[in-house]
Amino acid sequence: MKPRRLIAYPAHTLRSFLCLTLLWSFFTTNDASAQSDQVTVIKADKVIIGDGTTMNSASLVIIGDRISKIGPSTSIEIPTGANVIDLSNHTVLPGLMDMHTHINSSDHDGGDMSVLREHGAHGAIYGVVNAEKTLQAGFTTIRNAGALHYADVALRDLIAQGIVPGPRMYVAAASLGITGGHSDVNGWSPLIDIPGTGMVVDGPDNLRMAVRTLVKFGADHIKIVATGGILSSGDAVDHPQYSDEELRAVVEEADRLGRKVIAHAHGAEGLKAAVRAGVASIEHGSLIDDEGIELMKEKGAFIVPTLLILDEIIEFGEERGIPDYSIQKAIEMSGLRETAMRKAYQEGVRFAFGTDASGNLHGRNAQEFKVMIETLGATPMQVIKNATSDAAELLGILDQVGTLEAGKWADLIAVPGNPLDDITLLEKVSFVMKAGEIHKHKDN
Ligand SMILES: [Zn+2]
Repeated sequence: MKPRRLIAYPAHTLRSFLCLTLLWSFFTTNDASAQSDQVTVIKADKVIIGDGTTMNSASLVIIGDRISKIGPSTSIEIPTGANVIDLSNHTVLPGLMDMHTHINSSDHDGGDMSVLREHGAHGAIYGVVNAEKTLQAGFTTIRNAGALHYADVALRDLIAQGIVPGPRMYVAAASLGITGGHSDVNGWSPLIDIPGTGMVVDGPDNLRMAVRTLVKFGADHIKIVATGGILSSGDAVDHPQYSDEELRAVVEEADRLGRKVIAHAHGAEGLKAAVRAGVASIEHGSLIDDEGIELMKEKGAFIVPTLLILDEIIEFGEERGIPDYSIQKAIEMSGLRETAMRKAYQEGVRFAFGTDASGNLHGRNAQEFKVMIETLGATPMQVIKNATSDAAELLGILDQVGTLEAGKWADLIAVPGNPLDDITLLEKVSFVMKAGEIHKHKDN
């Protein structure tokens, strides 16, 4: 029996469908199984494996949606009938992974005011456009950190079914936040009922029900808002927003349902409370202190730093319709976070690449690499690892993706030249393969 293309689904979705798929394959053959025979050989000057190592003059044999072999070109025999792709003068690396996107956002989203004008149907359509831009930029996997009306769930499923092109998606569906917090829309008359930018939920019991609801409707992970944020009015970025009891309820309930929790946190107190409760990652982590650094190392929690977005808000905020209070918060934060985050990186807190891609950042995700190197004092190899094997580890799918190894999904990209010498080459991706399928192949 041939492997089926259903492996492009997120793991838990795959498990649910597996029995059905096996049964179905006894009765039918289809185009997908014919396609899975396709053999492709990719020859490259240099391969970055994704685990911190490289291989020169290497070849990869791809069969169907998996990497079948990888090794020095001299040792790889080219199977008859294989489609040979010569990527001389290029570096091949694993498909990049962005752990914090808002793929359903528009480029004129207006910050937290967007909910007054647009809803999930807009988000679904923006998502189709943004997903293609993101994939063309070499990002073959994304972790979405919140959308409206399950637009990210639908997009994930339709990409997995091959209806629209885009990266593999793992989605939060909606963020959970307190009344008056970062997921709420504040500063208006109490007589106006304005929906939140996420789900506004208070109290442990309600939070447990919210986690169950999000999972019921397709969330792969749970996003919680642990401190104030930049794009919200009336809350301070360094104030914690959920109580310890509420945070524990979310993590416990998510864990029971096999989901990790990711926590938006800028300020140190909210960050530490979330880490103590057992979240898998801190999104932003801007004002982490020494105790936070120790705690995160002890728990093995990741920071997803999302550095570029602040510059974006400062530079393009006005034209995106972002209110002045948010632009002011971004300016203040940008002066404060560098020392704290560099220290966390240098002292060994785990980091995974993430951009907070929203506005006009979709498709420009790779610009984050340069900012990471400059802000965190990282090397090109470290930031590539943060966007490949480290990200895959955070998602819990390192056994399937994140490094170029035999048996893993054939998610890979190529850039001209060597990104270890010039990281901005990752902004010029010329070849993209996801699950063995070529989505981009530009000759130089
Ligand atoms: Zn975000």
